[in-house]
Amino acid sequence: GSVPAAELLREESVRFADVGGLEDLKKVLHRLIVMPYVRPDLYAKYGRRAGGGVMLYGPPGCGKTLIARAIAGECGLPFFPIRIEDVVSEYFGASERNLADIFEQARANAPCVVFIDEMDAIAYKRHRAGGDSARRLTNVLLQQLDGVGSDTTDMLVVGASNAPWDVDSALSRPGRFERRVFVPPPDDDARRAIVETLLHGIHADASGATALAARTDFYSGADLRAVVDRAAEYAIEHALDTGDDQPIGTSELLGAAAEVRPTTLDW
Ligand code: ATP
Repeated sequence: GSVPAAELLREESVRFADVGGLEDLKKVLHRLIVMPYVRPDLYAKYGRRAGGGVMLYGPPGCGKTLIARAIAGECGLPFFPIRIEDVVSEYFGASERNLADIFEQARANAPCVVFIDEMDAIAYKRHRAGGDSARRLTNVLLQQLDGVGSDTTDMLVVGASNAPWDVDSALSRPGRFERRVFVPPPDDDARRAIVETLLHGIHADASGATALAARTDFYSGADLRAVVDRAAEYAIEHALDTGDDQPIGTSELLGAAAEVRPTTLDW
């Protein structure tokens, strides 16, 4: 398993301001994770402390990773991602060793925000009954998280899952991933921010972002990317056919949206 390169461990620069819309969600996470880290004195006064994990869940492509980065950015900490492909190996015992090694690295780089993507794959609940290597992997994760519990202010753990019902319930006990926070499909403002980012730096009419955002309820960030890609194909086709390389406009974007199904409806 590979581990994150050292350059990933610079202080994260993404902030909540870079996450479009989702104002309620940002407020909840600010109170739940960011402020306990930034103002431990205040929380200690009331018997609360920083740390403990939070699990972000919701349909794919809706900003869980971006939000986790923003949590790190708001805390002024580096972001330390753990991806399933860094962990899972077909060789006997290697997955467990990889996971322990990665946590070791994270600890060596604390304070940091550890992000565990695809929690359902690392700690799949039915594996507990089995006694196979996947169950041992869940146990390694539990051990590592309990280690974090002793001095929680230097390692914040954020998990993410598209299938929270498949995550071993042992992970939701106190001190682990006590809090689950739903990351909904992007709202109007979030979609506008996403589309503006996607159109930035390509030959497009920026006003199309507002029009597209208004017509794409239930589209994920990933779906919106597919829409913009399709609209770009229209513009290229038009330029090749006519020699007129006009910017991607509202009509191309809305035409493309009609051809891309919003995937969050399947979730
Ligand atoms: P998965 O579950 O597939 O891992 P995810 O929920 O982690 O997906 P991201 O990878 O964070 O989703 O988001 C998908 C894309 O949409 C990214 O390019 C991200 O920057 C963008 N995006 C999603 N939500 C927002 C938002 N609210 N504001 C700005 N960009 C967003």
